[in-house]
Amino acid sequence: MFDPKALHKIGYGLYIITSKEGEKSNGQIANAVMQISAQPVIITVGIHKQNLTHEYITSSGHFVITVLEQETPFSLIQRFGFNSGRDIDKLAGVGHGWTGEQVPYITDHSLAYLAATIIQKVDAGTHTLFLGEVTEALILKEGAPMTYDYYHRVLKRGVPSTAPTFQFTEKKKGGQSMEKYICTVCGYVYDPEDGDPNNNISPGTPFSELPADWKCPVCGASKDKFEKES
Ligand code: FE
Repeated sequence: MFDPKALHKIGYGLYIITSKEGEKSNGQIANAVMQISAQPVIITVGIHKQNLTHEYITSSGHFVITVLEQETPFSLIQRFGFNSGRDIDKLAGVGHGWTGEQVPYITDHSLAYLAATIIQKVDAGTHTLFLGEVTEALILKEGAPMTYDYYHRVLKRGVPSTAPTFQFTEKKKGGQSMEKYICTVCGYVYDPEDGDPNNNISPGTPFSELPADWKCPVCGASKDKFEKES
């Protein structure tokens, strides 16, 4: 018995993980973050091996976790989660400060940051689990943190293909016309039951009846970039 929906019951937050390499810095979104021990304070983060942030953390030995507030606009998540630092300077135009190790932390829509120095790395298939001892921790603002559940279920937003949760998207029972379609570019799932109200697609609209010029609300990919969810 293997029901991938059981994995959806694990709770996560949504964070920006920043690191640097020489004079360059970069950041990405991650959900796999947690505190492991209190004395010393050790935190861990799981990062996809293909990501530039993985390269930077490995080379510098430092990373910073910024805790996003629940009201974080999607544009900020999109900037850090659906782009590569190989193509754009993600920090340009985004409020940030610098830790003692000269790693940036995000100040826009940020509740707190935690800076860590790597003490161990664990190979985890597509990802590496970095364990770091916390060297700096600061509250920037009071508020409720963004959770993965809120992002996914309330905001109806998807995840990129490098997210650990990517392949375990929900599959609903029902007729063929109510089948979900997944964006092969960013992992957003079109669910006919929800439609795309932000773009005037009412709930109950099958994928086949979406206008030809409809685009992925997350990454802007065209309809032909979607595949039926299997
Ligand atoms: Fe997309």
